Amino acid sequence: MTARSVLIVGAGLAGSRCAETLRAEGYDGRVVVVGEEPHAPYERPALSKELLAGTRTSAELRAPGFWAERGIELRLGERVEAVDVQGRTAGPALAWDALVLATGARARRIPLPTPDGVHVLRTLADAAALREELRPGCRLAIVGAGFVGVEVASTARSLGCEVSVVDVAEVPLERVLGREVGEVLAARYRAYGVDLRLGTGLAGFVAGADGRVRALELADGSELPCDAALVAVGVAPEVDLHGDPRDGIETDACGRTALPGVYACGDVAAAWRPSLAARLRVEHWTSAAGQAAAVAHAILGRERPYDDLPYFWSDQFGLRLQHVGHAHEWAAVELEGDESSFAARYLDREGRPLAGLLANRPREVGLLRRELAGAARREAA
Ligand SMILES: Cc1cc2nc3c(=O)[nH]c(=O)nc-3n(C[C@H](O)[C@H](O)[C@H](O)COP(=O)(O)OP(=O)(O)OC[C@H]3O[C@@H](n4cnc5c(N)ncnc54)[C@H](O)[C@@H]3O)c2cc1C
Repeated sequence: MTARSVLIVGAGLAGSRCAETLRAEGYDGRVVVVGEEPHAPYERPALSKELLAGTRTSAELRAPGFWAERGIELRLGERVEAVDVQGRTAGPALAWDALVLATGARARRIPLPTPDGVHVLRTLADAAALREELRPGCRLAIVGAGFVGVEVASTARSLGCEVSVVDVAEVPLERVLGREVGEVLAARYRAYGVDLRLGTGLAGFVAGADGRVRALELADGSELPCDAALVAVGVAPEVDLHGDPRDGIETDACGRTALPGVYACGDVAAAWRPSLAARLRVEHWTSAAGQAAAVAHAILGRERPYDDLPYFWSDQFGLRLQHVGHAHEWAAVELEGDESSFAARYLDREGRPLAGLLANRPREVGLLRRELAGAARREAA
């Protein structure tokens, strides 16, 4: 039986995409999307890029009116505090036949006393507050050389800020892209004037008499003066409503959880990927959109498992990075090109490609996808 009412918690990409797919597929029951943020669904990737740079003023996913025209009830600025799975309600007023948890993730914070002027970046409100700091000449210290950290470094440099990036790793993005690529990227960041402080962590924030951050104290004993700081040390999935203490809500490839009528998609979900024979929690746009569509189909009783090759992009220091595939670990990296245009292939022990990274080579993405899909098929045979 098809659900008569669908409650979607989270009005980010995954929640909103699930709602619009339900309507696009002809669902005519009630669709309610509850979002804690006061904004209509927006493009989170723009927060570290065009929106922070000021080259774009709105990041809304759809034109105003889109949701109402489709009879999708957006309840913004409301947080769902608890759900009753037996009674199929959430709060006193929200009954559901199908519940979609699309609650995303929240920025991790560092458990240290934190003065004013220290930011995180996950929401539109975070981006607005950080943007206020990024005046020409501002000294911005970034803790964490992951994607959000380096994208903000890139944008801040373009706005005329002095930027330092601190990370315990020896090269930027080492965990995801490996040492070889990290070294190429480090050279590029330095060429763009970024002061990289690698191989050392944060020991504390130093506040001035005005209560604002004036320096970072690093684990190597040095002090890094700054006017503002960004903590970009990753995210934690918003699992509170599900109560699952693991890293994400576990689902099958259609987004079904172990609880009847309850689905999860997007950054909060650890979804089964049949072709990888693994459960993955991916914090990227393309997976969130694909999983959300799979959930909508599952609610309608149509099996449409999401099993595309993982894909993400990042824009930084004049590079469009595009990563295809999944490599948790690899035996070797093949790298060709130079720091303004390169390709890296991550290989297993038998020399089979697991994943690939392209920098400023958009035309090679299709080829890379085919190569990786072919390798996966040969592996399965
Ligand atoms: C700065 C930044 C840059 C990024 N850049 C890229 C990029 O270049 N490429 C890429 O592939 N990906 C990028 N990403 C990742 C991408 O944006 C995410 O993967 C995507 O937004 C995930 O969508 P989601 O809907 O699962 O979660 P979210 O976008 O986090 O949305 C979840 C929503 O649920 C709400 N919520 C949570 N709990 C409740 C509750 N109890 N009640 C009501 N509402 C609740 C939250 O407030 C939030 O609005 C970036 C992310 C950030 C933060």
